[in-house]
Amino acid sequence: MRRASVDDPASNDDLDAGRTRLSEHLATTDVAVTHYRLGPGDGFPGGLHAHADQEEVFVVLAGESTFDVYATDDESADSDAAADGWTVTVRAGEAIRFARDEFRSGRNDADRDLVAIAVGAPPDSEDVRVPLSCPACGRVGVRPTVSEDGVQLGCPDCGAARTPRACPACGREEMQVGLGEASRPVAVCPDCDTEVADPLSRG
Ligand SMILES: [Zn+2]
Ligand SMILES: [Zn+2]
Repeated sequence: MRRASVDDPASNDDLDAGRTRLSEHLATTDVAVTHYRLGPGDGFPGGLHAHADQEEVFVVLAGESTFDVYATDDESADSDAAADGWTVTVRAGEAIRFARDEFRSGRNDADRDLVAIAVGAPPDSEDVRVPLSCPACGRVGVRPTVSEDGVQLGCPDCGAARTPRACPACGREEMQVGLGEASRPVAVCPDCDTEVADPLSRG
C-alpha cells in the first residue's frame, strides 16, 4: 500500500504549477491519476487532442471546467452539432469521460480555481492525435511527432508526413489546435492568437 497527498510539498515536484502526478507517488502500474488546481484562465495541457491508446475521465471537485470537444463520428457528437465542435461545462461533483479518439481541450473559464482529478488508462499514452486533415488522403486525425527537425504531423492511414506551417503573424513554429470561429479545428498560435485554417497545406 502507498499513500500520497496533493498537499504534501514533496509530491508537488512538477515543473508546471498546479499539477500533481499522484500516480507517480503511488507507483501505480495500470492507471494514471493526476490532480490539478488551475487558476482562472489556465488550462489543462495541450490543445485540442485525442489519445488513440488511452481513455480519460476528469472529475471536477471545485469550480468548473470548460471543454472544447470535437468528434468525427456522429454518435458521440451533440445532435445539433454533429461532426462539428462544441463546448461542455463540467461543474463540481460532475465527471466527464473521453473515449479513445475523442478530441478535447479543457480550461478554467470561471473566475475561481478549478480543482479536478484526471484518470487515464492505460497510464502511458504514446499515440496522440490532433484533428487536422491529412492533405494526402483526407483522414481527420494526424499524429504529431517531435524530432530534431521540429514537429511533424504524420497520417496513421497513408503515412504522409508534413511539417505544419509556422504562425504567419509572429513566426512561432509550435501552433496548438483549437476550435475556430466556425467550430472547426484550426491551428492557433499560443503567443499571438492568430488562427490558421489549413496548417498542413502548402503555400
Ligand atoms: Zn493520409
Ligand atoms: Zn503568432
